[in-house]
Amino acid sequence: MKWEDFLTYELNKRKLGFLFRKREVIKNNINRFIYIKNKKYINFSSNDYFGFSINKNIIKSFKKGIDKYGVGSGSSGHIIGYTEIHKKLEKSLANWLGYEESLLFNSGYSANQSIISTLMKKGDFIFADKLIHASLIEASFFSRANLKRFLHNDLKSLKYMLSKHVVRKSLIVTEGIFSMEGDSAPIKEIKKISRDFNSWMLVDDSHGIGVIGEEGRGSCFLHNVKPELLMITFSKSIGINGAALLCSRQVKEYFIQYSKNLIYSTSMIPAQAFAILESVKHIKKADNFRKKLKDNVKYFRKISEKYNLPLLNSLSQIQLIPIKNDFLCLEIFEFLKENGFLVQAIRYPTVPIGTPRIRITLLSSHSFIDIEHLIELIYNFFNRHVS
Ligand SMILES: *Cc1c(COP(=O)(O)O)cnc(C)c1O
Repeated sequence: MKWEDFLTYELNKRKLGFLFRKREVIKNNINRFIYIKNKKYINFSSNDYFGFSINKNIIKSFKKGIDKYGVGSGSSGHIIGYTEIHKKLEKSLANWLGYEESLLFNSGYSANQSIISTLMKKGDFIFADKLIHASLIEASFFSRANLKRFLHNDLKSLKYMLSKHVVRKSLIVTEGIFSMEGDSAPIKEIKKISRDFNSWMLVDDSHGIGVIGEEGRGSCFLHNVKPELLMITFSKSIGINGAALLCSRQVKEYFIQYSKNLIYSTSMIPAQAFAILESVKHIKKADNFRKKLKDNVKYFRKISEKYNLPLLNSLSQIQLIPIKNDFLCLEIFEFLKENGFLVQAIRYPTVPIGTPRIRITLLSSHSFIDIEHLIELIYNFFNRHVS
């Protein structure tokens, strides 16, 4: 097959199914508002829940970090890229979340790749929730371990799978708050099962960290559970970029020996680590932001109910409206955009085929009026196009 034929075929596959993806060129993103060309939109698509990416103090510390450490780290952490500030951030995260140690990565994607591929070997078993993030699924495919996927948040399904396989060592993988569902894993119950079967547990808490629990410690703290491995990102509520694995001293030592993502990739920009330290300081004290976000979630669900919108069962800042088909999903996205609101049209392969949905992420900076307007528009669209 010729290269061009291959590419045309693959592109057409997406185009024909209304699954083709386009990227918006954003002019400026200032949290609640976003500018595309010269038009202003109310932003219901951001993961920067508290607007920390534009927080004045955090920006100031990023700048201060640049003045002090420059704009690049110069090499991997194994050569000269591991600075005092990286070490300080690792310590501070470990203290905050009650772990012996933590390890920094350049992104959540990279962290998940590394965690799975470094720990899981041929003959091992990964038991993963059906709806976990693509980065974890991909890493599991690439690792030579056996991947078994249990039904979403279904303890019986998990137990059944664990009991069916004789395993050398196994890892149960789930998310604190599911990024495309908005619901939470029954972490406490999964941890118990994990203990019963001598398995370890990995929780990806990208959307829970900073947002829930005392001092924003996230889903695990809220459920009073300490998984052996906890992955958090700095790209959502923390408002910057990067990620960390929280773990024991021994696991950290093992990663320093064997993680290719750490050994062969340039370490986090020191100024970025400096800014993350500042952001974590703020997030611990962000009870007012957490309360405002919670109030917005409550309000969103209350008004949606009033208008009879079919919501998925989520109590988090991630809210979803299932849409009949991919075509309609794009239509509603365009309709809302024309009316000044930016939401996400989520389709396959981000979610299982045939389950498109509108994804609405609430921010602490949204007003009740923003929320009410959005819901009214969705209601109007449904009235005209569905039923
Ligand atoms: C966003 C996200 C990631 C990836 O994190 P990045 O820092 O954006 O690479 C991983 N897991 C989940 C559940 C996420 O939502």
